[in-house]
Amino acid sequence: MSNKPPLSHGRKSISASLTPRDLMDGPQRYVGAWTAKIITLFPEAFPGVLGASLTGKALQDGLWALETIDLRPFGKGKHRNVDDTPYGGGAGMVLRADVLGEALLQASRGAPQDRAKWPVIYLSPRGAPFTQARAQAWSEAEGVTMLCGRFEGVDQRVLDAFEIEEVSLGDFVLTGGEIAAQAMIDATVRLRADVLGNAESAKDESFADGLLEHPHYTRPADWQGHGVPSVLTSGDHGKIARWRQEQAEQITKKRRPDLWDAFKKTRD
Ligand code: SAH
Repeated sequence: MSNKPPLSHGRKSISASLTPRDLMDGPQRYVGAWTAKIITLFPEAFPGVLGASLTGKALQDGLWALETIDLRPFGKGKHRNVDDTPYGGGAGMVLRADVLGEALLQASRGAPQDRAKWPVIYLSPRGAPFTQARAQAWSEAEGVTMLCGRFEGVDQRVLDAFEIEEVSLGDFVLTGGEIAAQAMIDATVRLRADVLGNAESAKDESFADGLLEHPHYTRPADWQGHGVPSVLTSGDHGKIARWRQEQAEQITKKRRPDLWDAFKKTRD
């Protein structure tokens, strides 16, 4: 293997049309369904894991929609270049403002300007950490636009001009924004009524009430000599609820002192 960078980053994804590639010709889509618009150099990475299980079924059923906007056709010149070397020097490449600007303009069509109704996000390790509270807020919006970065990132001017919020999946660096986008969309879409199926189960999950969740047990009752806590087979629902609450508090205290402090404050 040579260390030389490839001459082209995405020959495969050059497309003849500038219209968004969406899933209209595949699954149905309800009018006004919650929609994620994803600007990416790798539209083939979607729906990815979002196509599986509950989120996949809900996508098929048109309960939410996914629209990928391929960055490549907005590229400049014969080679549809989307990136260039950074001003000031240094390693790596930066996604160009003009290319991103055109893609963002296309994404803005048909989406409300009000950022509360339609957040516009750049997936970025510099961003505010993604949380369950943010997933909840996004799930109450009409949709979200996400810009997936690649290489060293994006030209700062588009972030400023389009009032884009930076959100991070965590304190680590990924190769691109696509995995972060899928993780955040998954967390958001499952909070929509109908998607999770049993909406009750979202209520007592980790973070829903500021605590981590209690442990779970299922059959067999005896597994290689390990039993289950007897309270769970007692049939006393009050006692079970209290035990679960205690467990949730203990686990939170031990694993996440930051969450525990915040939880105590809300109780005081
Ligand atoms: N030079 C950048 C990292 C670029 S990583 C820096 O040091 O901050 C390439 C792309 O991956 C980024 O543009 C971003 O879209 C995505 N990415 C990397 N880590 C991420 C994270 N923790 N959360 C969300 N997106 C991330």
